[in-house]
Amino acid sequence: MGLFDKHLAYAQAYEAIRNAGADPFNVKFEQVLSPTEGIIDGRRTILLGSHNYLGLTFDRSVIEAASAALHDSGAGTTGSRIANGNFDGHRKLERELARFYGRKHAMVFTTGYQANLGMLSTLVGRGDHLILDADSHASIYDASRLGMAEVIRFRHNDPEDLYKRLKRLKDVPGERLIVVEGIYSMLGDVAPLKEMVAIKREMGAYLLVDEAHSMGVLGEKGRGLAEVVGVEEDVDFVVGTFSKSLAGIGGFCVSNLDGFEVMRVTCRPYMFTASLPPATVASTTAALHRMESDPGLRQRVMNNAQRLFDGLNAMGFVTGPTCNPIVAIALPDQPVAIGVWNALMQAGVYMNLALPPATPDARPLLRASVSAAHSDEQIDAVLAMFKQVGETFGLIDSDVKRAATA
Ligand code: PMP
Repeated sequence: MGLFDKHLAYAQAYEAIRNAGADPFNVKFEQVLSPTEGIIDGRRTILLGSHNYLGLTFDRSVIEAASAALHDSGAGTTGSRIANGNFDGHRKLERELARFYGRKHAMVFTTGYQANLGMLSTLVGRGDHLILDADSHASIYDASRLGMAEVIRFRHNDPEDLYKRLKRLKDVPGERLIVVEGIYSMLGDVAPLKEMVAIKREMGAYLLVDEAHSMGVLGEKGRGLAEVVGVEEDVDFVVGTFSKSLAGIGGFCVSNLDGFEVMRVTCRPYMFTASLPPATVASTTAALHRMESDPGLRQRVMNNAQRLFDGLNAMGFVTGPTCNPIVAIALPDQPVAIGVWNALMQAGVYMNLALPPATPDARPLLRASVSAAHSDEQIDAVLAMFKQVGETFGLIDSDVKRAATA
């Protein structure tokens, strides 16, 4: 027996995927030309597979802020904030995030993954209850393993099931923390937050919303799903990431709850890792300002999402239930999904391929992440590629067949 023998089934499945064409899990950008275009395999390719929702990766103010911070404060912090010191930029970014969300406290983490890992493993402990949506992101599941709370899962986006499970805990001691996401990353669907807030209130639970995919995208101010639904006061903790709308890397949590600051000396994924480099802190702060000062970016990303979502549905593709910048296309089985992904790459569009068990309902998915920076022409070009590939694979009717049956 070798160490890697237990991974044999995965190794074989991965080998089969690679043999079918390009490697969807190791795509190499020879060049990134803009937020929406790159060179892959020598071909100019439309990038529709990164979460560059507001297209700010090449924004002039963002790049200039990063560049100035790099020159002023150096390449890295070379340590954690509790052991090796805070740079001024970290505190400033925390103040800006707290102001943006209208909360008293904000804590910045080195990734969004670590923000979930840290918050969920520290807020609830032994004797408490962590109540998770079944389709939660891996960082939420991993957090549940790091912490000591009892983990209870409820059916995806099902308030009734959530209610039932909380009710079973009625006379059980311990705190309850419910965790949901603003926009779910696989299907682009949103949590039924109003119903969940009512349940949280009735049951005396705390609520944490991971707005990783909804920050900058949903809400008049871009504060996410809780803003749209009008329940921000009932959300005790908002977690988010800098790696999507804010075009960098890092994560955060904001809250109004007194006592929050103790997390700085109790939250291990905050304490025992190096803090974000000055350039990233500065670029993130600049991106936050850019996001706030240009609501047109939100309008554009949603318009682009609608154009793609409507176009795909009109052709007969099966998308997720709600139109959001994550547009998921369900495919019948794995070989077709891999074939379609490869054909689209050949045609000149890069998207994400998500395979079971990482997907809900064990369905393979192609996922597009639309950006405000995509042009109408790029979205239309993608739709034309989908039409051709969809017909080739028999996923949609050709125009000829449609006309004949009309
Ligand atoms: N939460 C959710 C819902 C996510 O989808 C992701 C990443 N896709 C994360 C957290 C982790 O964020 P990051 O990639 O910034 O670590």
